[in-house]
Amino acid sequence: MRDSLKVWFLASEVVPFAKTGGLADVAGSLPASLKDLGVDVSVGLPFYRMTKNGNYKTEEVLNGLEVPLGEAKRRGEVLKTSTQDGIPVYLFRQEDFFDRSGLYGTAQGDYPDNFERFTYFSRAALLFAKETGLRFDVVHCHDWQTGLIPAYLKTLYRTDPFFSDAASVITVHNLGYQGVFPAEKLPTSGLPASEFRPEGVEYWGKISLLKAGIVYSDAITTVSPRYSQEIQTPEFGLGMEGIFQKRSADLYGILNGADYDTWDPAIDPHIKAGYTFSDTKNKKECKVDLVNELGLDRRFVDRPVLGMISRLAAQKGCDLLVQIAQDIVQLDAGLVILGAGEETYQKFLVKLGREYPDSMAVRIGFDETLAHRIMAGADMLLVPSRYEPCGLTQIYALRYGTVPIVRATGGLDDTIEQFAPGSGQGTGFKFVDYEAKAFLEKIQEAVSLFEDNTTWMRLVTNGMKCDFSWERSAREYVSLYEKVKQAIKNKSEVRNDRRRE
Ligand code: ADP
Repeated sequence: MRDSLKVWFLASEVVPFAKTGGLADVAGSLPASLKDLGVDVSVGLPFYRMTKNGNYKTEEVLNGLEVPLGEAKRRGEVLKTSTQDGIPVYLFRQEDFFDRSGLYGTAQGDYPDNFERFTYFSRAALLFAKETGLRFDVVHCHDWQTGLIPAYLKTLYRTDPFFSDAASVITVHNLGYQGVFPAEKLPTSGLPASEFRPEGVEYWGKISLLKAGIVYSDAITTVSPRYSQEIQTPEFGLGMEGIFQKRSADLYGILNGADYDTWDPAIDPHIKAGYTFSDTKNKKECKVDLVNELGLDRRFVDRPVLGMISRLAAQKGCDLLVQIAQDIVQLDAGLVILGAGEETYQKFLVKLGREYPDSMAVRIGFDETLAHRIMAGADMLLVPSRYEPCGLTQIYALRYGTVPIVRATGGLDDTIEQFAPGSGQGTGFKFVDYEAKAFLEKIQEAVSLFEDNTTWMRLVTNGMKCDFSWERSAREYVSLYEKVKQAIKNKSEVRNDRRRE
């Protein structure tokens, strides 16, 4: 029997162990679909306080892992647990670095030693694999936090026989986070000084860990086809468009899937009553429950309720929301916002919520249960992003019969089709220009269509019938893994032939 493909899947957040956003959802669900396709996958992430508080059943599998950070060494341990699907998960414990309230920082900003924290994780993941004989054909990295891994494989460990046949793939979930640090930090990573050049880790006189991942990996993916095109342009490339253009032959756009074991109103344990596209009447019960729970006026049981579940960051279109929140209230629509992030948005929204307690509910913080209840109880979900690599909330919203109102960018554009009442085709509302007026017009359009129950229900069921499950995308990842694995094998055969000559 052919050996199965071995993948070492490394991410800085993975559901259910740690989450701040969509990366965690992807890293928590893609491995299960890979496993279904016969891939031998192991997952690794830091052991944060959040993970510790989850009280997962773990066993310590490595004690005293020594990880060089410049001249110094940091000791840590590796714990093993597994997902519900039986996938091994390795948790990298280093209490000084990871036993903190946040994953990357607080509302006031990032932790000042994020370079050291994620250099530690990246290097520890490789050293652990070598020390314990965890062989892999492909290491699949995600975002800047793991960007050093492909660089290590191409430099420090290039001639190490343990890693000689290992290929690397990096997925860019969000180009807005580039992992930029001062050049003086380079020695901490252990990379040779010669790698500090524009074709290496240097980024305008600094280091970018995301760039390291893009430059040294064997293939790069982004989380939607549209975003893979956009990042090659100055508007969305955020200074990295040239790097992506250079690597365009190795750049793939693979749409994220939804984990329908977690996000399906038919089986969701967080919501008041389950429902499906063929029988949606319980959605109303979820709405009544939400209106009561959040203290909105009773009339909103029959009026449209708009939800937003989002990191409160400029990327997510918070400035547009802030500009039109009062107009939404004037439409006699309810507005429910669950989010955490930048302090200015948090403060503004909380203040507004206090001004309109009957029609607006603002909840600041990260609340998984409430996220599900809004998804089920709201009639529409707002996703007005400035840019959006894929976006998951609009995909979940479709399944919950909560009509997405989105900006036509990146994955939002790939996944939502503007509704045309004439033909009855489409799944949501899309505006193109990043302007408050355009956003409000789409909301007005949606609110007036809501009055026409038959047409509205057509739109709702169109969305509920969509299938964004992982299987198709997981197949695309598997063929990419096979491709990079083969390319590395061919290269090492050429090297061996040369040696023999
Ligand atoms: P991003 O990864 O850019 O934050 P996505 O739409 O890809 O955006 O994923 C966001 C994920 O995080 C979704 O699962 C969403 O439900 C969740 N989420 C965002 N903010 C919150 C919050 N404040 N509380 C609970 N879940 C949240």
